[in-house]
Amino acid sequence: MKDYTLLCPQMAPVHFALFDATFAWRGYKVVVLSEVDHNAVEYGLRYVNNDACYPAIVVCGQLIQALKSGKYDLAHTGVLISQTCGGCRSTNYRALLDLALKRSGFGEVKVFPFNVNVIKSSGGVLAGRFDVDLAFVRKLLVTILYGDILLLLSNRCRPYEVYAGATDKLTSHWLSKLREMILHGGRYSISKCMSDIVADFESLELNDSVRKPKVGVVGEILVKYHPNANRNLAATIESEGGEVVVPGILDFTLYCLSSDQHKKPYADVSFLAGLKSKFAIWIIEKYRDKIRYAMRNSKRFKSPKQFYHLVEKARKVISTCNQTGEGWLLTGEMVELIEDGCPNIVCVQPFGCLPNHITGKGVFKELRLRYPIANITTIDYDAGTTEVNQLNRIKLMMSVAQKNLQYIS
Ligand code: SF4
Repeated sequence: MKDYTLLCPQMAPVHFALFDATFAWRGYKVVVLSEVDHNAVEYGLRYVNNDACYPAIVVCGQLIQALKSGKYDLAHTGVLISQTCGGCRSTNYRALLDLALKRSGFGEVKVFPFNVNVIKSSGGVLAGRFDVDLAFVRKLLVTILYGDILLLLSNRCRPYEVYAGATDKLTSHWLSKLREMILHGGRYSISKCMSDIVADFESLELNDSVRKPKVGVVGEILVKYHPNANRNLAATIESEGGEVVVPGILDFTLYCLSSDQHKKPYADVSFLAGLKSKFAIWIIEKYRDKIRYAMRNSKRFKSPKQFYHLVEKARKVISTCNQTGEGWLLTGEMVELIEDGCPNIVCVQPFGCLPNHITGKGVFKELRLRYPIANITTIDYDAGTTEVNQLNRIKLMMSVAQKNLQYIS
């Protein structure tokens, strides 16, 4: 396994810029594929069943494009794919990829699925191939936290920067520094690192006299974070005069980990399973406290809320038994954004994504009733959807957001 080059599809550029270093620290050579271009989507459409979700087409297409590039020794190249093992169609991504590889002539390439249930059932050895021990899990967790903090701070600063490009430059600087730290460790503690990141972004020169509407981005995980899959949504919102607020990936991780707790009253879930879930979330929140501590005195940045705060927000509107796709998390994030002074929301999902239509679009009416200021728009992404339609929706949402700005403190 360690003599393989593992190709990993892109999902969230800031976080994934660090993941290969995390795997390299454990001795795995992971190559994160940087971008998805038109050809990658074409490969996806050609080799994946048309009924499959858009993320499956993007992910499989990107992997096939990389294999076709001739850059990799196929006898020692594998591909990484995530699975959720739930009711969602992403459970079948592995099977879709197997078929796509066969159809495209790469049937011999090994597929390494990455999913939490396999880790659980393998007692620490993921699919019999990855060594997953506590040190590695901790490293992965810290990597997500670094990604989350950089995403939060850069989104807050970029729209107001006095010197164009200064935020992205600082983000790149920290990404390189963090990669070194992940790989080689050193004397830097996580807390010190978080404080230094916050201090650096705090010292960026911003134009504080300008007020821009905040626009939350929620939805299916791939189209939410992947700029090529969502046609550079964040950049579009910024160019239309908004400030983007994207909730972090850690909440999605905790959402997955908390499922046993929410099922408990309705399904046969053991007391121990609920306890383990609570314990894991408690430990992870202790790590996230390092971000909160680093931001404790900041007037510029708002630190992330506790996970159970999000659970309570979602429960106001739907049952937390909605656990397929992004499930209740999607609703919870919308409620939290609105109550936190960000009533403008773009809810993104792949075309035909049933679970997220229920917990996304399906709750809009209720949200508008409860929060009349809510200015929510929904955008479906698909290989065939026209950009003009999507852009018009964003422009319409932004014009309402600009008008409503006077009512938001
Ligand atoms: S969340 Fe939606 S897009 Fe993603 S796999 Fe499930 S059904 Fe498909």
